[in-house]
Amino acid sequence: MICPFCKVDDDSVIDSREADGGAAVRRRRECNRCTRRFTTYERVERTERLTVVKRDGSRVPFNGDNVMRGVVAACGKRPIAAEQKEELVRTLEDELYRDFEKEVPSAEIGRRVAARLRALDDIAYIRFASEHQDFRTIEDIAAEVKAVQESPRDVKDQRQLFE
Ligand SMILES: [Zn+2]
Repeated sequence: MICPFCKVDDDSVIDSREADGGAAVRRRRECNRCTRRFTTYERVERTERLTVVKRDGSRVPFNGDNVMRGVVAACGKRPIAAEQKEELVRTLEDELYRDFEKEVPSAEIGRRVAARLRALDDIAYIRFASEHQDFRTIEDIAAEVKAVQESPRDVKDQRQLFE
């Protein structure tokens, strides 16, 4: 595996374990040249890609990188580790492939990303929601901020906010 830091292909696996309930193998690696550590995941390749149906009805292939860009933008400089963001996108992707057969509405992806961000960080959540949910006015955002302040940060309770 090529080291993401020094780009040399020379590393040792220092830890290997099941991840995502057995759906993946997580390997912790150490570069033999720069000694920095990085993580790789091995999982079954998906042969059928999901299609995202946008609000205007257009269709594009699902791409986890696009989800990651939205998450990274929402998180900004908040203290959220890169691994947490990766984990968010990865588990969301698994969930989407489990719940949808061929097509998934972009609004549904937005709702699920928002629910996950809310469990992670209130500010990142509000940023994401104000970009992607139908908040039209500053009052809409203020109302959501109030809802965040008043309700417990429990993942199970969040779905209903978006349904
Ligand atoms: Zn290296």
